[in-house]
Amino acid sequence: MGRGEGQVGSSFITTVTERCRMCYTCVRECPVKAIRITDGQAKVIGERCIACGNCVRICSQNAKLLRSTMDEVWTLLRSGQPVAACVAPSFPAEFADLRYEKLVGALRELGFAQVVEVSFGADLVAREYARLFEQDDGRRYISTTCPAIVRYVERHSPELVGSLAPIVSPMVAMSRALRKIHGDDLRIVFIGPCVAKKLEATDPELGGEIDGVLMFPELRQMWNEAGVDVERATPSEFDPPHGGVGGLFPVSRGILQAANLHEDLMTGEVVATGGRNHMVEAIKEFGSGDLGARLLEVLCCDGCISGPGMSSQLTLFHRRRHVRTYVVDRMEHLDRERWAADMERFDSLDLHREYQAHDQRMATPAPGELEHIMHRMGKYKPSDELNCGACGYETCLEHASAIHMNLAECEMCLPNTIDQLRLAIKEVEASHGQLAETQEALVHSEKLASMGQLAAGIAHEVNNPLGVVLMYSHLMLNECERSSAMHEDLVMIAEQADRCKRIVSGLLHFARQNKVDRASHDLPKLVEHALRTMAVPENVVVTIDDRMADPIADIDRDQIIQVLTNLVSNAAGAMPDGGTITIRTSDEADRVRFAVQDAGTGITPENLKKIFDPFFTTKPMGMGTGLGLAVTYGIVKMHSGDIQVESQADPACGPTGTTFTVTLPRRE
Ligand code: ADP
Repeated sequence: MGRGEGQVGSSFITTVTERCRMCYTCVRECPVKAIRITDGQAKVIGERCIACGNCVRICSQNAKLLRSTMDEVWTLLRSGQPVAACVAPSFPAEFADLRYEKLVGALRELGFAQVVEVSFGADLVAREYARLFEQDDGRRYISTTCPAIVRYVERHSPELVGSLAPIVSPMVAMSRALRKIHGDDLRIVFIGPCVAKKLEATDPELGGEIDGVLMFPELRQMWNEAGVDVERATPSEFDPPHGGVGGLFPVSRGILQAANLHEDLMTGEVVATGGRNHMVEAIKEFGSGDLGARLLEVLCCDGCISGPGMSSQLTLFHRRRHVRTYVVDRMEHLDRERWAADMERFDSLDLHREYQAHDQRMATPAPGELEHIMHRMGKYKPSDELNCGACGYETCLEHASAIHMNLAECEMCLPNTIDQLRLAIKEVEASHGQLAETQEALVHSEKLASMGQLAAGIAHEVNNPLGVVLMYSHLMLNECERSSAMHEDLVMIAEQADRCKRIVSGLLHFARQNKVDRASHDLPKLVEHALRTMAVPENVVVTIDDRMADPIADIDRDQIIQVLTNLVSNAAGAMPDGGTITIRTSDEADRVRFAVQDAGTGITPENLKKIFDPFFTTKPMGMGTGLGLAVTYGIVKMHSGDIQVESQADPACGPTGTTFTVTLPRRE
């Protein structure tokens, strides 16, 4: 494990949290669904786990770690007590390029006093199976050579515990034989490709007969740590007793050959199968009676040679060939008389064992509960159930059951998560749009505020001298004879000074940090009143279209009249040839709205961006100040309202015209 990496899981298989990428492959590959997903982390549940090791084998991120037993084995080797290495018969597939004598020599270099092949234990076990079959006690059995199968039945098919063949595994048989030869002081370490052997060794029913279990990769690591060069090890022979056809055990159906039992399709008395999918199915059918065989020979892996503790990269059939070649070679050189004598010697060796049910089945949820969970995953009708398997469960209903059992999470449903994600993206986009609008409005009001400050400063300074100019120009005008040559000039000065006064007062109005003086007003009536006070050109007609359900709103009367005046006079200005202006009032529960629509020249798209800027005007010199819409905007914002403009200025695209829509909150 790398530095800073965390682990989850209390079982002997733990998950390296940083490496787990939530692909759920381990969930998919686990035949008993012993993997709980919490907060996106896959954790193996020790009690449910059958130690098949599939999750360790298939995890491409190496996020599943097996608890190492190397330290315990080192302690044994350094204890001074004699330790025997019992090598699983699958070793020729693991060490395909190594002469077995080197393997034995390298094991002795590590400190093992005895190096034996488990194949002799397999021969003993095969004989027991043959006897069990011969005795024909009317019962049906499931073979127990595979410890993962034993764990499966004890935990997930406990009603079949009585059908487990009461015979120990080859590993235990070998251990019992060795202790009979060498006495109880001998410590025994099994070396093989199996994860479940580690748990079998600690099975209370076996009372500590095995002192340690190493997997092949751990053995290689120990050689590295001890500086043992396997290639250069002094060749050595396995210690007796030597095995016979038991060497075929790790190949599927090997036990049948060793026991001289055969899968006979005609009688169907013996059925042999293996692998993650078949084993569950076969045991289920054995339980239901559909599989009527007297003996079900079943392995969790496709033979031990495909066990999770094999580091060999060879293909399955290539591995098989290595085991077969080795066994054939050994059989050729086997001292058959001695083998027969050894078998005879252990004829009455007790190879019996018992099993205990450890029921791990979980209660199936009631249909209502299941439906509720399905709804949480956005599945309301059968067509919503894609059964895509992305969550690791074969069907959506299985996934829902697992959620009910607290083994899985709704988020594991990929299609639903994608839908949720799409929705979230849409929401983010919408709020991003809102944010952009708000930002634009903010920039605009900041611009107005700083221009307002500047304008107010100038207007304030200009106001006093202007007052003097105005006063004196009017005084002089009063005193000047109409016939005087100066009279016309003085009229011009007074008029232009008046105009300056209006501009300055407009500036001051724009800049004033106005307070909104709210009071309840009838909006349509206010519009009527405003229109009466306005000087609208004769060729322009103004109509009011009142669509308000509730006409009352809390607004600043004078300011809203000013807004209406600005909008209507702009609208009239845009229709030099006359026409109709429509003022439409409408409302919702908490807001009121008025729109001023004209059929004028319209505003071009590039001008639309600038119309609320102070001093922006398209009117000829002396006709416009460019402050009307800036003041309007300020008033609307002071009311916490909103002003929108829609305009069509291209006659080629249809009738031109502009609509300003002001929306105000009904109450403060
Ligand atoms: P001013 O009327 O003094 O020019 P405003 O701020 O009221 O200042 O208007 C700014 C500009 O917006 C106008 O000069 C005009 O170009 C444009 N505008 C405003 N209202 C309309 C409208 N109803 N139709 C066409 N153009 C408009």
